Order: sequence, then C-alpha cells, then structure tokens
Amino acid sequence: MHDTSPGTSPDGPDAPEPKYHALALLSGGLDSILAIKVLQEQGLRVLGLHFVSPFFGKPHLIGHWREEYGIEAVNVDIRKSYLEMLVKPAHGYGKHMNPCVDCKILMLAHAKTLLPKYGASFLVSGEVLGQRPMSQRADTLNLIRKDAGVKELLLRPLSAQKLGPTPMEESGLVDRSRLPGFWGRGRKDQLALAAHFGITVIPTPAGGCNLAEAEPAARYLPILQNLAEPAARDFSLSHLGRQYWAGPYWLSIGRNQHDNQALENARRPTDILLRLRDLPGPMALGRQYEPAAGVKPGASPQKWPNDVLADAAAFVASYSPKGRSQSEEGTEAERPVVVLVRQGKGESETVTEMAVTPARETPLCWTGPKTEALAAWKRRFRPTAPERPEPKESMDHPEPADPVE
Ligand code: SF4
Repeated sequence: MHDTSPGTSPDGPDAPEPKYHALALLSGGLDSILAIKVLQEQGLRVLGLHFVSPFFGKPHLIGHWREEYGIEAVNVDIRKSYLEMLVKPAHGYGKHMNPCVDCKILMLAHAKTLLPKYGASFLVSGEVLGQRPMSQRADTLNLIRKDAGVKELLLRPLSAQKLGPTPMEESGLVDRSRLPGFWGRGRKDQLALAAHFGITVIPTPAGGCNLAEAEPAARYLPILQNLAEPAARDFSLSHLGRQYWAGPYWLSIGRNQHDNQALENARRPTDILLRLRDLPGPMALGRQYEPAAGVKPGASPQKWPNDVLADAAAFVASYSPKGRSQSEEGTEAERPVVVLVRQGKGESETVTEMAVTPARETPLCWTGPKTEALAAWKRRFRPTAPERPEPKESMDHPEPADPVE
C-alpha cells in the first residue's frame, strides 16, 4: 500500500500532495458517514460532497458534520440538472416520484467532474449491497456505475468485500483487507462500526428525500404536469400553506401568519396576491406561469382571466371565519366581502377590489393534491421509461426515505 502519511503522495514522494484522495457522496446518513470514516482510518483524505436539490439536502449541517464526525464537506447545488432529469428519468421512478437510479447516476457523474478541482483520484459512496430492494441490488449498482461513467473510479467501501476489487484497491491506494463486507438491510454491522469510531450521534434517516414520500410527491405532480419549465422556486412554493389547483390554475393559501409571510416572500412579479380588505383572513398566492404543451386548451394560467380571479377570491374568502359570518348576515346581492387582488410588483403593482360571496365550493372546483393521481400519471406520461418488474417491496427506501449514501 502507498504511504499516505502527510507530505507523501500516493503517486510517489516527489509528486505534489493531492488535497484530497477521494470525493464521497455525503447525504448525512450513517452509511455515508461510515464510508468516509473507514477511508480516513487508512490515512486517506476524503471530502464529502453534499448534494442539494429542491427535494433533499441539508446544507446547514456542514459545520455539524465537521465538528461531530471530523468530516470535511462542501455543498453541491444540482438544482438545475436535477429538475431536467426529474421530468424524464431514463430509468423511471420508484414508488412515488423518486428517480433513485437516475439520481445516483447524476450525482456520481457530477462528482466525477469535480475530481480535478480537488485533486482527488476516486469517488466513494456509502451504498450497501442488498440494502434496498432495487436501487442497491448488484445489477443496479453495476448499472449506476456504468451509466455514470465511473466504473473504474467508484469505491463502495462498506460492501467492498462483497464486490469485485476496484483499481484503487488493486493499486494498494486503499487497503481492501481493512474494508467491510456489509450486505442486506440490517443495521447491526453499521451500528457496531459506528461504535468502533466512537460515533454516538447516529443520524436519523427520517425526512431525507421528499420525492420518496407520498404527500410531497402529490404536491409536485401538478407542477410537473402543467408548467413548461418548472423551477426550484415552484417546488418550494408547493410546500407553503394549503395547495389547490383548478385545472391549470394554482393557488396557495396560508394557514397561519407564518405561511402568510412566507407566501408574501415567495411572491414573484408575475404572481397574484389575494387578501381580504377589511377582515382577518389568509394570504393567498396565485402563480401565473407558462403552461406546458397540451395543458387544457383555452386556459391561460399565464394570465388569469377575471372570472378565474373572482372564483379564487371567493374561495380564499371562505377561509376567513369572519368573512363567512359577515357574508351569511348579508344578502347575496350585497356580496359583502371585499378581496384585494394585487398583481405586479413595485411601481407596476395594480390593486383591484373584488366583492365576493365566500364559497368553499366554486364553479372552478379548487382541489388539493391527490396521492392516487401519481401512479396514473407515471403510466400515462412516461411510456418510454423501461418497464420494471414489480418488486415485493417498492424501490422506495424501506425505512423513512434517506438520500443517496
Ligand atoms: S430517495 Fe435518495 S436516491 Fe432516491 S431520489 Fe431521493 S435522494 Fe435520490
């Protein structure tokens, strides 16, 4: 094995010292941490790459990983390329909207491009063979390695003894005999290894990836269906308040003061803000956008017609208890509740007053996201995605979703 002590390069004593020997995918889950620790134990310098997309990523934990685990890491923003992939992942989706195979391919391919920047010569991921029903099967692990173009560059140290030797092990840069051979879904081996490294703070996997969870995936679906070019800000908006769609018209209604403020902050110049003029009630945001091809003919989500605005205003007003009771006291003709509709921003802002009768059921039928719509959509809009055998368990992570290790 090469001497990797400080001041000595694996390429020989006269070669310049690489800043890092390896770049590792660091989700912050236990496996990704252990994969780095076993290499650090061999004297190798490893930089963690923490990928951030609209659906996963905890960039604020960089300092925590350094202090708690002695792991250096940087955030890597892949929002743009991730959204492009998500619209049509070559290997399809998992149970919800999680394109796990393509997600891993994308991250590894991106990590490969960063090797020269950090002077590193190989990549590391914390995947464990057989841990997850599909994305961590041997054939899928091979496919990921091949499609990402990292066949000779990727080391999966936690399952090294169960996988063929890599060039890094064959050259002696990594001591294969000191790597584990984890397999399967159990966590016993990982916990024992964590204890070996003195790790007492075991990261919880919960809430790792919104794409692998039913409720957020249902919120994302109409965005993918309707918007010509969905952006990260659109997916962020889908997490705010109550979400409603009437065909291609998209309305977010605050549930409390915090939501109202967040909606105000999320407002873009092309958005519409609705709020009751004289009574307490929620803030609502209508997002106007360029529709995807094939979106309901005649609809204009890029510029809401007046009847849509009035319908939305009546619906928003129904979330104001005072608005409802005031309306019940007046006659229909009096339409006693006034909603302010603000469009544009800054000097170009216009404010229109709309007198409406609060109504939870309106002609446009605003409805919330439906989890059952996802399966139908995946069949209908992704006919070219390769058919996958139906697994006994979903491709989803068996425990609460955990980002790629
Ligand atoms: S669950 Fe993990 S592998 Fe799958 S899409 Fe999300 S981050 Fe990627």
